[in-house]
Amino acid sequence: AFDTLIIGGGPAGAAAAIYSSRKGINTGVAAERFGGQVSDTMGIENFISVPKTEGPKLVAAMEEHVKDYDVDVMNLQRAVTFTPAEHEGGLHQITFESGATLKSKTLVLATGARWREMNVPGEQAYRNKGVAYCPHCDGPLFKGKHVAVIGGGNSGVEAAIDLAGIVGHVTLIEFMGEMRADAVLQKKLNTLPNVDIILNAQTTEVTGDGSRVNGLNYKDRTNDEIKYVALDGIFVQIGLVPNTEWLKGSQVEMSPRGEIITDGHGMTSVPGVFAAGDVTTVPYKQIVIAMGEGAKASLGAFDFLIRH
Ligand code: FAD
Repeated sequence: AFDTLIIGGGPAGAAAAIYSSRKGINTGVAAERFGGQVSDTMGIENFISVPKTEGPKLVAAMEEHVKDYDVDVMNLQRAVTFTPAEHEGGLHQITFESGATLKSKTLVLATGARWREMNVPGEQAYRNKGVAYCPHCDGPLFKGKHVAVIGGGNSGVEAAIDLAGIVGHVTLIEFMGEMRADAVLQKKLNTLPNVDIILNAQTTEVTGDGSRVNGLNYKDRTNDEIKYVALDGIFVQIGLVPNTEWLKGSQVEMSPRGEIITDGHGMTSVPGVFAAGDVTTVPYKQIVIAMGEGAKASLGAFDFLIRH
């Protein structure tokens, strides 16, 4: 059995693996796809001390760093069930899609999250070519340009306010007849001179010139007319979905949005089970934050081990 078994191989899982193995304990990492969301990222310009890098490059560096240590890395392993220890300090069990099972005294759950997609033609083809999901990450790439933000919830309106300070013009597109964001955010948005809002609009297609986004089509839901907006970029802000479907019905306490709730040491409601990164309720989903949270959760797990 492992002392600490980490589920997930994104920035949170990689950081947890390095911190655990440096304590000289028996450490394993099982991930569906080592690298996580970073594998799907083009430019990264906010990873402190590295002014500019690319996702696959950062993933390779993370993997190399983990492999410097005596960590059992099990890639292409999808966890499907979690069975908690029968008594505090006992062994937890994880079952994988392959049928394999692993046991460990402590766990770090770091299965991350995924952006909810619009699922319209052109979205995949122009991903990273104008279609973006993270304003903190990609906002500066659209300096002075015209972008749309899809979604009038809190994250969409926050993104629109944030982007309005960087880009030339922001068009916010909301499906319903009104926005769901907090009133204070909507009020702030309405004071900005370079923002316009289109309500009752269902995005139907992302258009492009073959290499980059050049606009989108939407259906005006009041009269079913299809309309076109010329754009340089599209930020999709319709939700971030935590990868916790496999934990539903388990004893791990989650928020109504399915994010794992942790305490100040990264421990979940199940003793000895920790969680870190985008899969948790931690605000602001970013690489540096996920790495810090992963380090914290594995130190929390180590503390737990020396007390049991
Ligand atoms: P993830 O990176 O999501 O990793 C989760 C890991 O868990 C993966 O290995 C996955 O395969 C695995 N997993 C999931 N389910 C299971 C399961 N059931 N069993 C086993 N393994 C499982 N952040 C920045 O700071 N800067 C940026 O420039 C930036 N750009 C981004 C661009 C894009 C397109 C995207 C999508 C995100 C971007 N982010 C950026 C956000 C950043 O990538 C995330 O905050 C970060 O990757 C979260 O790390 P994580 O380890 O918590 O989760």
